[in-house]
Amino acid sequence: MGRYADIILPLAQSTYTYAVGEGIEVEPGDAVAVQFGTKAVYTGIVRQLHDNPPARGRTKSILARLYDKPLLSPLHLRFWEWLADYYMCSLGEVMRVALPSLIKPHAGCESEFEPYIPRRERVLRITNAESTALWLAANARRAPKRAALIEQIMAARGELPRTATDLPASALKAMAESGAIELGERDFRPVRDLSQLRLPQLSEAQHAALESIHRNFDDHDTVLLHGVTGSGKTEIYTHLIAEHLVRGEDVLYLVPEISLTTQLVERLQALFGECVTAYHSKLTPARRTRIFTDMLNAPSGNFIIGARSAIFLPYKKLGLVVIDEEHDPSYKQSEPNPRYNGRDAAIMLAALHKAKSLAGSATPSLESYANTLSGKYALVRLMERYGGSELPRIIISDTLRAAKRNERREQFNKVLIDKIDDCLERNEQVILFQNRRGYSPYIECTECGWTARCPHCNVSLTQHRHNNTMRCHYCGYSTPIPRLCPSCKVAEPQSMGFGTERVEDAVAKLFPQARTLRLDGDTATSGAAYNRIISAFARHEADILIGTQIVSKGLDFADVTLIGVLNGDNLLNAPDFRASERAWQLLQQIAGRSGRRDRQGEVVIQTAEPTHPLYGHLCEADYDAFAAQMLAERQMFSYPPYVRIINIALRSYHVESLVEASTALAASLRKRFGGRVIGPASPLIDRVRNEHRVEISLKIETSASFARARVILAEEVQRIRLNKCFGNVTIICDVDAW
Ligand code: ADP
Ligand code: ZN
Ligand code: ZN
Repeated sequence: MGRYADIILPLAQSTYTYAVGEGIEVEPGDAVAVQFGTKAVYTGIVRQLHDNPPARGRTKSILARLYDKPLLSPLHLRFWEWLADYYMCSLGEVMRVALPSLIKPHAGCESEFEPYIPRRERVLRITNAESTALWLAANARRAPKRAALIEQIMAARGELPRTATDLPASALKAMAESGAIELGERDFRPVRDLSQLRLPQLSEAQHAALESIHRNFDDHDTVLLHGVTGSGKTEIYTHLIAEHLVRGEDVLYLVPEISLTTQLVERLQALFGECVTAYHSKLTPARRTRIFTDMLNAPSGNFIIGARSAIFLPYKKLGLVVIDEEHDPSYKQSEPNPRYNGRDAAIMLAALHKAKSLAGSATPSLESYANTLSGKYALVRLMERYGGSELPRIIISDTLRAAKRNERREQFNKVLIDKIDDCLERNEQVILFQNRRGYSPYIECTECGWTARCPHCNVSLTQHRHNNTMRCHYCGYSTPIPRLCPSCKVAEPQSMGFGTERVEDAVAKLFPQARTLRLDGDTATSGAAYNRIISAFARHEADILIGTQIVSKGLDFADVTLIGVLNGDNLLNAPDFRASERAWQLLQQIAGRSGRRDRQGEVVIQTAEPTHPLYGHLCEADYDAFAAQMLAERQMFSYPPYVRIINIALRSYHVESLVEASTALAASLRKRFGGRVIGPASPLIDRVRNEHRVEISLKIETSASFARARVILAEEVQRIRLNKCFGNVTIICDVDAW
């Protein structure tokens, strides 16, 4: 027992030392209240105890211990330490995202935890055998399903969770009223018996994939499941998840976006009942706190579905982590620290728990795929769709040729127009994809070349027609569209290029009979708005859905047989080493939205570069060939997975100090890393909200010690941070940057 405690506070420094006063007993992982500065009282987490008084100043004492048990287990604390170390941030910054905000002291330093109320679940019971027997005698023949339920309850010794049957509430109520059963409640019990679960029957191919996952888990901790869209990866996950829950282990099921959790949670709650909990950053702080403390108090056996922040819950005995759509870029937190990748962090968390992880995708990331080639992960494939429906046919349509032949109207080639007409005629649905929202991405004066730009950011303004404004998508600045060019005052500025709003206009002109919906950042402003649009389209209340990449994610519409990609080129031409990989993934995912039942779907991709090799790979749906080519390029030009990249972003309102600081940092880094340093360079958008930006990147070969490289980098960054001349420069390290 030490006299001093190093305490993690939600601040930029790693820990702060406090004295452990008389009468206070703490242990690592405990939440404590401490005073910081003259007034503020913070919740801190005890990292370690020791007997070394701090070198300087008077040491304050811990005010109170906040809870009767540690908030963090030693293992959980190790996970935080790994995150802070790997992603080059402070433990305090990890704490800020990891703990729900209500876990904090208030006046008087009492803890704010509510007492733990055990979770309840609904059950069906048989308590009066006589009245049940009477009911059976009278009704068994007429109502075989209800009679079967009674048998099921009896087999479960008279009590069955409500979720074990799919009879509707009305039927159960009627049975209760006639005395056959009783409706009740009990303390929630985690799943104990596989036979109580009604899991979907796996197809032969799915069953083989599941067996292969099992076998590979014998000698691998991580399996990559490469399964085409519609192959039923979710069904395989549910079987695996059930096995772990039955053993009383915790399961974490990660999805890249919160919007995807609602449908999934409903689907899984129908299978697993009350043990399914959704956790993500859009829940209220009270709800998040409640989930956290419930898990702290309850036994293991929790099934958490969540976005990346769900990795921070207090798992006691994690058995399995499922990472769905593992390739998705939204797993990476880009702002603020810790800039972690939820997929990689989840796999690390699983490793700490000696648990298994299963990463699934129809379009695996090159990083994960390379890990299967090196043997670090095992690879399991499921290349047929459930129910045998065929993968869609991909048609590449040449925009320039169509224009030359006068076969282009608005943003549509004739091929696509004809196919949409056919589709509408057959009463089938269409999805149109354009990767930009708004009416047009920029406005230009054709007379003098003036373009509308944001006064605060170095980007062009996007035209939005519905309220006749031009908006900055970086800072939100908005201004009316000028009637006359503000520069030459001669001509009227023109809309250049097109976004989803303009596509909507064109659709109204070309297909006036069609009902349309638009799904993008401007219409899906909340989870509720998103759900409204999706479910309306699912109910076939519209014929055409126009959207940005939001439409590519995990949606399943029975009547969609045609997908139109209006401009494939702007995906390919993004200035980013991942552009081709992202384009391939996005196009495959979008294609996967069509023809999912009994009809083969079609995908028309309009492009000015029909001979681009990516389209060839796409048509052949040959992932291995595509990945081999991509990996060869990555190796040749030193990109991940052959190197690790750390982006060092420098930001300041003062251009001069920014230039000086970045030049100094790059020079000192070159002394230590040589040619592995790139920059300083201006990023594509070098000014946002009037703050100037410069970037340096560091490429470290995977064969070198990455830990050592981070230590050296941290030293050099610290040197610049401590230099008084650069006080107004912010430096951010982004490890495994996207
Ligand atoms: P993926 O995630 O691989 O794209 P899903 O898991 O969403 O595929 O499955 C696609 C569709 O097929 C879903 O509607 C799902 O309900 C259905 N499906 C897949 N496997 C089965 C199964 N074994 N039994 C019943 N339905 C299944
Ligand atoms: Zn702006
Ligand atoms: Zn002009």
